[in-house]
Formats: sequence, structure tokens, C-alpha cells
Amino acid sequence: MENFWSHCLECFKKELSAQQFNTWIKPLKFELDQQHIKILAPNKFVQQWVKDRFAHKIEMLARELLPDVAKVEFTILAINDSLLHKKEAVISKALAINPPNNVTEPHVTETSKNSVGHIQKEVKTSGLNSHFTFESFVTGKANQLACAAAMQVSENPGKAYNPLFIYGGVGLGKTHLIQAIGNHLKHIQPDAKIKYLHAERYVSDVVKAYENKSFDAFKKNYHSLDLLLIDDIQFFAKKNRTQEEFFYAFNALIENKKQIIITCDSYPKEIGGVDERLRTRFSWGLTVAIEPPELEMRVAILLKKAEGNKMKISEEVAFFIAKQIRSNVRELEGALNRILAMSNFTKSTIDINLTKEALKDLIAVRGRQVSVENIQKTVADYFKIKISDMLSKKRSRNYSKPRQLAMAITRELTNLSFPEIGEAYGGRHHTTVMHACEEIDQIRLNNPSTAQDLGILMQVLRG
Ligand code: ADP
Ligand code: MG
Repeated sequence: MENFWSHCLECFKKELSAQQFNTWIKPLKFELDQQHIKILAPNKFVQQWVKDRFAHKIEMLARELLPDVAKVEFTILAINDSLLHKKEAVISKALAINPPNNVTEPHVTETSKNSVGHIQKEVKTSGLNSHFTFESFVTGKANQLACAAAMQVSENPGKAYNPLFIYGGVGLGKTHLIQAIGNHLKHIQPDAKIKYLHAERYVSDVVKAYENKSFDAFKKNYHSLDLLLIDDIQFFAKKNRTQEEFFYAFNALIENKKQIIITCDSYPKEIGGVDERLRTRFSWGLTVAIEPPELEMRVAILLKKAEGNKMKISEEVAFFIAKQIRSNVRELEGALNRILAMSNFTKSTIDINLTKEALKDLIAVRGRQVSVENIQKTVADYFKIKISDMLSKKRSRNYSKPRQLAMAITRELTNLSFPEIGEAYGGRHHTTVMHACEEIDQIRLNNPSTAQDLGILMQVLRG
């Protein structure tokens, strides 16, 4: 029975991204109650999500491995705390507003005179930038849970999830979203004491308090907030005094039911250089991921950003850009800026030809994208080994080094995921590929001769 659950976990781990796995699967508990399997989720959000997306798979695995089981049930972990019950009510309301599964219609954007991209607006003491609102935030599968939770928290600070921990890669909208929380709260509760700040700023505030021996004032300032929005907490790594100070602030705020919202580039348990007691606290409330947007969502974002800049782009153009640029929203904005500049410069309307011209360099890079077979052949030739040996299980350094290099290069030059790369390299586990990439990163820094091999291979492959 234990085996069944660990088998399920293994399967999901392989199929899902680490972020998805951590958000949806890791928090689940498993119970076998006579002939009922119970999958317990920490809250309604997760319960609903898991049920909608993964029930089928879990039932299938159950039929395979536990043929006696009659039913798989999805419930919520029983919690006696009345506050937590309230949370569930609050969250179900959010789900009703923002049901999972559908890409929400993009709203009409606020018009803004600024150009697309970073809005370097002077920050006031609250640190809020009024351009980052929920209205201008496009939601879709990649961010709808984060967005629903954010809306919920901004309506009921300190009462819904505390802390709300939002994590994801660069340029995916973390800052935008937590700024939107602050702006919304400020709108509905003008007297609320709100502070947004980047983690680095907090670090430097701690240093200043140290220098000026003004920790009392520092504490008073932070501990009296109604809402603390702290961005990119990974910058606390190895800053012990900062972490200690933040620990006190955190406890004080949570105890007084004041809301804390944190963003980070990784899952709380995986933040390097941050004290265990803080990391544990980060997962006390709700942890949600923001993932890279899929094609339709990228199109919706482009159309919205264009509209905000009074740019006219057709859907055809938006699809074209969205197909070329896949990694993050910031780059989508960059592409729009280029197109806008080109159109102003040449005084011509934006059509597909102008777009192609403006994005020429980007497209050229993608056009040169190499195939995994090509990478394998090139690397094997370079090290004078056979491809079959490179893909085999042989562990000799003569093979393992080229193999690791080739996997790392594949990761860099193709869009393949870790599991896909593992598959292409003799059916290896995705963690093996991740390990290879990390190893090569290290080697790059520490071993000049391999770094040189890598440089040459990249040059050959990139053409
Ligand atoms: P992060 O903090 O995750 O690195 P940002 O919040 O700075 O990312 O987002 C980068 C840019 O992309 C910002 O200009 C932001 O407004 C925009 N952006 C990101 N996600 C969205 C979205 N879902 N809808 C609209 N704009 C977005
Ligand atoms: Mg950010």
C-alpha cells in the first residue's frame, strides 16, 4: 500500500515539472481506508485541481496495483482550527470566481502612456507602482491559482493564506502580481499600512539599522505593517543577520494576523542558504507556482500589452511573436518594443513582414536550433567515440564526460525538457540529466580544458 503511493509519486515526478509536482502532488497525503483510497489535500484549491487533472491517472494506477480497491476519494485534510475553515470558505469563493481549467478571458487593459516593459516609476514609501494591477494581469493556466490566491488575500489580508508564497522563474509576473495585491488593498483600504520591497532592500535596511543602532525604529516600522510584500526572498541567502531580523518580523506579523506575501525563484524547501526555521515558516500558508505561459496565454498577453500601448497588432502577428518567444513575459514585452520602435522608425503599420524584420535576430537564433541527433553526432565525433557508447550505460570517464557534455549542450540548444533529454540519451532518468547539467556548470567554472571543449562544441553546433 505504501508502495502504491510511492509509485504514484514517482510517476507524477516523471511527468510533471518540478514546480507542478511541488505545488500539487507533494502536499498530498494518502490513506487506505478499507477499500477506499483517500487522497488528502491541504485545501480546496489543491483538492479540486488534483481531482480535475490527476484523478484519472491515480485511478488507473490504483486499478493496476491495488485491484481490491473500490473507490478513490479526494478530500481535504481535517483541520480543527476555525480560522482554517474560514480559509476554505474564502478559497472556494475564489474558485467560483476563477474556476480552474479555463483560460480566463483577458480583461481590457488600463491604458498607459509608458512604453512596454519595465516601468521605472518613482517608488513612494509604500514601494507600490500603480501600473501593476490585477486588471492588467492576464491569467491563464500558468498563473490562475497564484492569481486567485492573490486576489483572495488582497480582499482579506491576514485572514486567508498567511504567508502567501509565490514562486517561479524570472519574468513570469511575480512582481506584477504581488504589486497588484498591494495596489488593490490600498484601493479598498486607503489607511492600511502597506509595504512592498525587494529582498535586497530589506537586507540593506538591516545593515543601516546596524550602522545607526536603530533596530528599535526598524522593528517598529516593519512590525506595524498590515501588509508586507517581499520580493525575491532568495536574496536572503547567507545573510544571517537579515534572516534573524526577518524571522522576528515574520512572527510578529503572523501573530497579529497581518498579511505577508513572499516571492522567490524556488520552492521554499529548496531555497539555498536560508535557515531551516524560516523555510518551514514560508510553507505555513499557501505555496503557489507561476509557470511559463502557454501559447494562447502568450498571445493574450501580447494583445493586451499592445492595446495598453495603443499599438495595433493583428492576431496573426501576435501568434507569430508568441510562437517565436516562449520563455517569459518580459521577453514578449521586449519583442513588442522592438516592433513598436521599428514601426515608428519606418513610419509603417505593423504587419507580419515588419514583425519578421524587427525580430530577425531572434528568429535567426531559433532557426539555427540544432537537433539532438546532431548534437550527439558532433560530440561523439569530437571525442572520437561511437554514438552507441555515448548513449550506453558504460561508466568509464571516456564515455561519461562526453555524455554529460552532450546532455548539457542539448539542454542549452534545444527546447527539450529534462525527461525528454533523458529519453534521447538511452532512456535515462530526468534527474540524471539535471545532475549532468549541474556538473557541467561546475566544470565550466573550474576546469578550463573542458570549458574549452564545451566552447568549441557550442560554436560548431551554433554554426
Ligand atoms: P518576475 O517578477 O516574475 O520576474 P515581473 O512581474 O517583473 O516578473 O514581470 C515581467 C513583466 O512581464 C512585467 O512588465 C509584467 O507586467 C509582465 N507580465 C508578467 N506576467 C504577466 C501577465 N500574466 N499579464 C500581464 N503582464 C505580465
Ligand atoms: Mg520580480
